[in-house]
Amino acid sequence: MKSPSTESLLLSDPFDFSESAKKLFLNSFKENALHHYKNHEFSRKLWDKLGFHPDSLKTEDDLATVPGTMVHLFKEHELCSVPRENLVLTLTSSGTGGQKSRQFLDQQSLNNVKQLALKIHQSLGMASEREYNYLCFTYDPAVANDLGTAFTDELLTNFTGKKEVYYAIQFNSVTNEFVLNEEGVVATLKRFAASGVPTRILGFPALIYEVIEKHHLKLDLGEDSWLQTGGGWKGKADKEIPKQEFRKFIKNHLGIPETNQRDLFGMVEHGIPYVDCEKGNLHIPNYSRVFVRSPFDLSLRAKGERGLLHFLCSYNFSYPAPSLLTTDYGRVGTCDCGLGTDILILEGRAGVSKHKGCALKALELLEK
Ligand SMILES: [Zn+2]
Repeated sequence: MKSPSTESLLLSDPFDFSESAKKLFLNSFKENALHHYKNHEFSRKLWDKLGFHPDSLKTEDDLATVPGTMVHLFKEHELCSVPRENLVLTLTSSGTGGQKSRQFLDQQSLNNVKQLALKIHQSLGMASEREYNYLCFTYDPAVANDLGTAFTDELLTNFTGKKEVYYAIQFNSVTNEFVLNEEGVVATLKRFAASGVPTRILGFPALIYEVIEKHHLKLDLGEDSWLQTGGGWKGKADKEIPKQEFRKFIKNHLGIPETNQRDLFGMVEHGIPYVDCEKGNLHIPNYSRVFVRSPFDLSLRAKGERGLLHFLCSYNFSYPAPSLLTTDYGRVGTCDCGLGTDILILEGRAGVSKHKGCALKALELLEK
């Protein structure tokens, strides 16, 4: 389908928050919401019942009136706004207990998410023509391409030139399960450190931390090397190290400058990457909006106040989650790094949750 407003948005600078740039997001969101309204019966009935219509979106402030659809709905039902045969990729975050998160992408939406991720990483100075060796603490996408983390890592390795890519979580065809190849990780890091080619490490912070501790690693990967983390410390919260302390630890043990250590927050159902600037703050791009709501009545909370995170995005025409209400707590803050935009501050999950994401699943591998 044609989506001229969304195309214009995704060609624009992700950290331009001028009035005209904000208007690009408003127009793109309206275009996307109208598509879901027309093509997804449940969304239409829900919005009709709540008295919302995408045509009512005329100003930036109107965006806060879009009702959020609870994230649980997407875990329990397969929701899709295009014919099934148009889908080219289903992303899942691995979990236990049947609570899998899924996202469906047609070709256009897949192109859009790749484009916006590239634009964001370029704007943060993280994309490069230069060749890097990659160590990915994740599943080999050759066997796990539908897992969100494997998809993200494969995507991220395409933002630079790449020499060698080593996937640390490998499939054992004898035991039929994924295992972390710790010896392989240590040997690979030593080899990369001696290679003269800079390294990029992608992975879960807890996993990287534990491997360094366990094997007493002390290497110098060089000041052109990078660490890109994601997935948080879920399941290892008791061992969580504050971000700034973690950055110093990595600098000491792997020689990667703190400014080259960037965390990424993403949700499979939402798909927008929130990425650290060099100061270590997750910036909110103009490709999404983040609202913070009261857990009691969903009323809008003022900037800086804590509440449930409510995300808007506009790039996905196959998956009816343009307005996603999560069970994660957080706040919107500011950063003085020069990008001049709002940042996302994460403050944990609401309630007691038994389901586990990719991150936790991967951590279990270390304990076996
Ligand atoms: Zn910043």
